[in-house]
Amino acid sequence: MGLKTYQVTTYGCQMNAHDSERIAGTLEAAGYIPANSGDEPDLVVINTCAVRENADLRLYGKLGQLRSDKKRNPNMQIAVGGCLAQKDRNQIITKAPWVDAVFGTHNLNVLPTLLERAVALEEAQVEIVEALEVFPSDLPSKRESQHSAWVSISVGCNNTCTFCIVPSLRGKEKDRRPGDILQEISALVTSGVIEITLLGQNVNSYGAEFGDRFAFSKLLRACGEIAGLERVRFTSPHPKDFTDDVIEAMAETHNVMPQLHMPLQSGSDDVLRLMRRSYRRDKYLGIIERVRSAMPEAAITTDIIVGFPGETEEDFEQTLDLVSRVRFANAFTFIYSKRPGTPAADMTNQIDEEIKQQRYEELAKLVNQIVWQENLAQVGKVVEVLVATGEGKKDLETGRLSGRARDNRLVHFQPHPNTNPGDLVDVEITGAAPFHLISDRPILRTRTTSGSIQKSRNAVNLGMPIHLSSK
Ligand code: SF4
Repeated sequence: MGLKTYQVTTYGCQMNAHDSERIAGTLEAAGYIPANSGDEPDLVVINTCAVRENADLRLYGKLGQLRSDKKRNPNMQIAVGGCLAQKDRNQIITKAPWVDAVFGTHNLNVLPTLLERAVALEEAQVEIVEALEVFPSDLPSKRESQHSAWVSISVGCNNTCTFCIVPSLRGKEKDRRPGDILQEISALVTSGVIEITLLGQNVNSYGAEFGDRFAFSKLLRACGEIAGLERVRFTSPHPKDFTDDVIEAMAETHNVMPQLHMPLQSGSDDVLRLMRRSYRRDKYLGIIERVRSAMPEAAITTDIIVGFPGETEEDFEQTLDLVSRVRFANAFTFIYSKRPGTPAADMTNQIDEEIKQQRYEELAKLVNQIVWQENLAQVGKVVEVLVATGEGKKDLETGRLSGRARDNRLVHFQPHPNTNPGDLVDVEITGAAPFHLISDRPILRTRTTSGSIQKSRNAVNLGMPIHLSSK
């Protein structure tokens, strides 16, 4: 009997993407191999999200599809993990008895054992634990990208935003020791990674557990000391804990990228109070102002919820006003949806679905206009792009490759014949689309992961300044 094949489907946030790499690593350590695309896997793992209402619909829809696959192939196994598994537990087996194993956000490591036990006992296995057993980062990992990696610095969250179910599913914040994090990063760089994203539900409160409120800015500065680490990003920060030492560390550390994803959620103080976000508009605007004065080229993105219970037309206008003032490089906008078990779900003044939809469309229209204008403002600039795995896929129509600029904007550019994923290429922006930048000029300079620098003939001829990657 050949090795069993597996496939992991991931829903939700970067933390889930990170966990799915650990699930894949744990399965491969147990002897599974990834299924080739198009082949029916022996094992399907669904790593679920619980943040929005449609999360349930998506899971049970997928399980419905898998039911017929399993009828055709009774040896196939199906496992469900992640936040919805942590929340729904045995209910998943009740609703979908063809599922073999259910595991939670705190015990990714038990999956291979549960699958074996399900076969031996011919019975579905559910194992959910309340507190973290093993830091996911201590598990083997199978990364999606060769050159970029997620590095989790904490799990869980101590905040109590009234719309959010995460703290009840991922528990109170637990911080990794700085030494463990830096060790993992050094090992990743040795294995060829040049870009890392530090992950936490609220990276700004990193260190709270071991009593060091400057721990996050210290960590950013320490990343600056790691040779070969070209790019450092982080998500998600929280405005209530975003302090000046972090802004200074970002501005003064050469490989911390000029990019910040700072969830706003609402531009109205009344709604922020109802959301229990512990900051108000002025504080948010003050942070943006200080970030921009320290890093004028920084791209700032955000998350916004419309239609939160009690949101009046004036409140919504406040959100539109703040969006116009900050001019985000991008904004992920969501219609508020009730999550059973959250305080907001029991609030009386729920907003009519039609009004929610109208506000969503109006906000999305304003955001898209600004995003495109801000992209057009990049035309003429020379930017450094990381040609990433996957995203480096060639656009068959234009022959362009893609990658991320230092400010995390997506760039489609004309490749050189020997451009490879992981290369850092300097390109001149010649055009902009609503959600990406375009370069139709030859690459000016390439820095390969082996460190060699190739200046393109054009750059030399044009006498264009080839700047060493500075801030
Ligand atoms: S900060 Fe708020 S929204 Fe974010 S994970 Fe914590 S409780 Fe949820």
